[in-house]
Amino acid sequence: MKKVLVVDDEENIRLLYREELEDEGYEVVVAGNAKEALEAFHSTDFDVITLDIKMPDMDGIELLRIIKEEKKEIPVILCSAYGRYKQDFRIWASDAYVVKSADLDELKLTIRQVLAA
Ligand SMILES: [Mg+2]
Repeated sequence: MKKVLVVDDEENIRLLYREELEDEGYEVVVAGNAKEALEAFHSTDFDVITLDIKMPDMDGIELLRIIKEEKKEIPVILCSAYGRYKQDFRIWASDAYVVKSADLDELKLTIRQVLAA
């Protein structure tokens, strides 16, 4: 079973992603902030990470940098309510970028694509 780490500071998003991705057959671990995310990242081998950009303390872009520095082969999908980060050079290290939506079809498709790559 492929393991997904979902990082988002909003609990309702974590619940939604967990439920929908478990329905897709993934094992899902959630983290509500960068500290929790790094703890999970250091203790488990994930197949893919979805990363919220806007979070208090450390944002997803900084977390992306740390994750890729330590393990550049792990696919990271950045998720944001905004499209504007698409032009931000700091996201280039990510493997994909998904604009958040209540409909998770694009996210699910993107996860399948990065896992197949
Ligand atoms: Mg957020």
